[in-house]
Amino acid sequence: PTWLGVMGGGQLGRMFAHAAQAMGYKVAVLEPAQDCPAGQVAERLINAGYNDSIALGQLSALCAAVTTEFENVPADSMNLLAHGSFVAPAGSCVSIAQDRVLEKRFFVECADKSGVMPAPHKVIASHADIDAIEDALLPGILKTVRMGYDGKGQVRVKTREDVRAAFDGMNGVTCLLEKMLPLAYEVSVLTARGADGQSVVYPIAENVHRDGILFTTTVPGPNVTAECAQRAQDAARAIVAELGYVGVLCIEFFVLDDGSLVVNEMAPRPHNSGHYTIDACVTSQFAQQVRAMARLPLGDVRQHSPAVMLNILGDVWFDGDTIREPAWDRVLALPGAYLHLYGKDDPRRGRKMGHVTFVAPTLAEAQQQLQAACAILGIAP
Ligand code: ATP
Ligand code: MG
Ligand code: MG
Repeated sequence: PTWLGVMGGGQLGRMFAHAAQAMGYKVAVLEPAQDCPAGQVAERLINAGYNDSIALGQLSALCAAVTTEFENVPADSMNLLAHGSFVAPAGSCVSIAQDRVLEKRFFVECADKSGVMPAPHKVIASHADIDAIEDALLPGILKTVRMGYDGKGQVRVKTREDVRAAFDGMNGVTCLLEKMLPLAYEVSVLTARGADGQSVVYPIAENVHRDGILFTTTVPGPNVTAECAQRAQDAARAIVAELGYVGVLCIEFFVLDDGSLVVNEMAPRPHNSGHYTIDACVTSQFAQQVRAMARLPLGDVRQHSPAVMLNILGDVWFDGDTIREPAWDRVLALPGAYLHLYGKDDPRRGRKMGHVTFVAPTLAEAQQQLQAACAILGIAP
């Protein structure tokens, strides 16, 4: 059997392993944590740091191809792996997606091809940079340039004084100040591109965030117009082609009150907003990741059912201060419910523990099941 490798042992690696194993591959995971969602299901867990050159050598000796499940994998490690295995995505693409400054610069540089611009922004590396902030950038959001996710490493700011206080609280790391935009709604476009340059674009997904964390994904999006979907999908196609990307890439966009489209960020891997593809599309985003890295033809991205995905955070285990298993039996009694739990056994508030996807003949029915699930789980609708 052929082995496929993945950098990172989180839930995205676990779902990748499921897809790879279903196609007959064996999976090796490189991850420093002893117990991790992907390590529980992979044939091999290499317990080591992402920079460990011996572990990287082991992984590339074993695997025909290696991918990543998190965007903060050291780009140099991907480059090192490429000496012995086919690596997708390339370190050069990963390094852009993991640095908000490089990412914004890339979006600006390819705006003539993609037709979309990022939010107005400024790099904040010193107090002098704060003094030079133009009024038009405030109110805004100060974001760390690296390592932020789920809204972590972000502070909303109204004044220069706020920026100063927030920047001082970031332990001296370089930040990016982004203008706060009037969002009508948020969408994401999942794409995959093969080594042969062919690309596919999934149906556009509408996302609702809560406390900086993805709450629901709905496809088709109730607010998404055909024209907006077309623009976002065209932009996504231009962006993956411009990157020369191989693998699965997800691009987040903002749709503003005036209808204009702004590109927010991209993830060089399957994405939380693409989980609906497991149960609602012909080819899931994880099966697509396998196909791209194994240099197989990409799969059909057609969606066969309207779908709503609800993220399950650790909060639903809490009843006041006591922890108890949520009533999965009642959730699974709802028609069209697919429960996915990631094998994490310590629920914490705000921690992604799983997701539920509802598929139905109509979107209205899927949305009804979502409401019912929220009531069962004690989640405010
Ligand atoms: P992710 O978990 O998606 O990687 P992240 O921590 O990298 O998130 P962003 O996606 O940049 O952060 O921002 C998180 C959310 O904050 C966005 O989905 C959006 O709701 C809001 N947000 C971010 N930037 C802006 C902005 N410039 N104007 C208005 N809202 C914003
Ligand atoms: Mg992000
Ligand atoms: Mg985001």
